Amino acid sequence: MSPASTSSTASSNNTSSDAPRLLADHPALDLLNTLERALDAPVDRWQTDEDVWQWLERVSLLPNGEMPEHRPQGLLAAATALRESLRKAVSQRKANGDVDVTLLNDYLAADACRALLTPAESGRIRLARVYPTDTPMQCLVPLALSAADLLANGDFSLIRKCESETCSMWFYDRTRAHRRRWCSMALCGNRHKVAAYRKREATATAAANAAGAANANNKSDAA
Ligand SMILES: [Zn+2]
Repeated sequence: MSPASTSSTASSNNTSSDAPRLLADHPALDLLNTLERALDAPVDRWQTDEDVWQWLERVSLLPNGEMPEHRPQGLLAAATALRESLRKAVSQRKANGDVDVTLLNDYLAADACRALLTPAESGRIRLARVYPTDTPMQCLVPLALSAADLLANGDFSLIRKCESETCSMWFYDRTRAHRRRWCSMALCGNRHKVAAYRKREATATAAANAAGAANANNKSDAA
């Protein structure tokens, strides 16, 4: 690779937003994508508990639909362990192998959701299900349920990785024709188009050069 192409790749990485991209069409696959394989090294979009809280809010999987008033420490470690456990399970499921769901079941076991009646306006009574939020694992129950739903009910012929060799993003192909190939047309799809174009150009140039050389040989043979 030429130095010029290396630097242009690096700058395009730098211009991408630091927020995890949500392009998987399933929150549990977006979870896997918070760890992106960049060209040389993985980029983990989660560096702090706060990153995970923000992400849960973006994918609408906060416990009880809102930021807990008292947020337990240690969410990053718990969420990362859940993510990597799901990553392994998805790979195993894709390979039609035995799926290790031990750790995922531990997260599901933290589900202590309870029904609660509360007085509402005009003398009404509201019935709601309430998630306790005392521990990181309790706060991750909605996310664990989404991961469990993916494993149990997802159509794994539609759960695929981006076809780019340098990309690690997963997605759920919900296109009508089920021919989605890329995490994003604007990124990997476009990169593929450009690479295919360059390859065709190079092949055409090589063929033209070969024809030119053959012509020159013919001429020197004739002389
Ligand atoms: Zn991709």
